[in-house]
Amino acid sequence: MKEPILIAGGGLGGLTTALALAQRGWPVRVLEGAPEFGALGYGIQFGPNVFHVLDRIGVSAAVIEKADSPAAVLMIDALTGEEVTRVPTGGPEFRERFRYPYIVIHRVDLQNVMLDACRRDPLVTLEADALVTGFADQGDWVTVTTQDGRSFEGAALIGADGIRSRTRAQLLGDGDPLPNGFMAFRSSVPMGEVTAEVQRDVVALWGGPGFHIVHYPLRHGLLFNIAAVFRRSAHSERGDVAAYRAELEHAYRDAHPTMKALLAMLDLNRRQAVGDRDPIRHWHKGRVGLLGDAAHPTLQSLAQGACMAIEDGLCLAEVIDTAGGDFDQAFRRFAAARHLRTARVTLESRYLWDLYHADGITRDVHHQMLRERSEADVLQCLAWLYDGFPRPGEGERSLPDARENLR
Ligand SMILES: Cc1cc2nc3c(=O)[nH]c(=O)nc-3n(C[C@H](O)[C@H](O)[C@H](O)COP(=O)(O)OP(=O)(O)OC[C@H]3O[C@@H](n4cnc5c(N)ncnc54)[C@H](O)[C@@H]3O)c2cc1C
Repeated sequence: MKEPILIAGGGLGGLTTALALAQRGWPVRVLEGAPEFGALGYGIQFGPNVFHVLDRIGVSAAVIEKADSPAAVLMIDALTGEEVTRVPTGGPEFRERFRYPYIVIHRVDLQNVMLDACRRDPLVTLEADALVTGFADQGDWVTVTTQDGRSFEGAALIGADGIRSRTRAQLLGDGDPLPNGFMAFRSSVPMGEVTAEVQRDVVALWGGPGFHIVHYPLRHGLLFNIAAVFRRSAHSERGDVAAYRAELEHAYRDAHPTMKALLAMLDLNRRQAVGDRDPIRHWHKGRVGLLGDAAHPTLQSLAQGACMAIEDGLCLAEVIDTAGGDFDQAFRRFAAARHLRTARVTLESRYLWDLYHADGITRDVHHQMLRERSEADVLQCLAWLYDGFPRPGEGERSLPDARENLR
């Protein structure tokens, strides 16, 4: 029996990796810091590229059963309410071009599909309440310690512990993620309670100067998911709902009345700072490596952070299996296969972020450019992303020396 591979973090990246490794005969132990494996109760969008992975780990049908496929993804001018552009996700051209659907799904439902698959596989051990606080690379194996004083041994450690990764902090010591000055509130509410005049069968992104709202249906139209994101202009104490409400009213003061009606439905008890990191080329040292948000967190503009974590999981499992226990080589090949694609997601997301939130003449120019694009142009712009990712070895580039990491 091989030593298990340890994975810090049982989010979508960690669970995909666990499943893909186990399916190749590698025992894995997933150490999740939260008291239970699970997810926060909001929606998540996936481009068709996610199915290149879900098919290969055998969960596509279970995911499709729980998901909705929106008629379109729209960008709407948040001041006038006019449609600026659309991705025709529900049309035959989209399906013909990308083979798979665009979906929206409740995070809990997706996480449960992955957890069920992990629980059915005897090579996966799931360890909740195991917050990883440190590791030591012993040369031939790794040891990992958790907050409650336990220690685990494994053949390697994969840090899939999200944007505030402790594994990254110890491995690279390159500081906190970069906040971009925006905050996000997320809620999902019963569809019957939605009074705002909105299209309910689409993903709609209302973009305005310094703020946006995204909404879409979940659970076959039973729920309505809303994310409101805005540039912070005041300092409210954590949990001060009245101050949060005042901040929102200020940020969205010029927004279309429909957006204001959507804001009234938000649960203001919890909000989240938005941020990312500059891309780097190397995510490992020896037997310890990173994936998903721990390696390359991104802004949400392309709705691809979790998709990238899932793609990473399969890719890393494949290279570990091919390298037959040479983890240093496997992590190196993983970065070679993944760093450009994930960096492009991060950088394009920043560009789109500025575009969604532009003001004045910049906004007018952006909208004009978007309006001029034909449906075929729109699909072509997304092809690099939605066509899926190159397999290890295909399109792989040799990586410069690790000292180049920060350039
Ligand atoms: C507002 C918003 C909307 C988004 N919408 C989309 C979208 O529509 N589509 C999309 O693809 N992406 C979206 N994303 C991005 C997506 O949420 C992340 O990219 C994705 O969750 C990253 O997955 P991950 O597995 O790398 O990390 P996470 O999902 O963060 O999972 C990390 C796991 O590690 C655990 N953990 C943390 N620290 C430790 C530790 N020290 N020890 C053990 N366990 C630990 C956590 O509890 C968690 O379970 C959105 C993000 C935001 C903020």
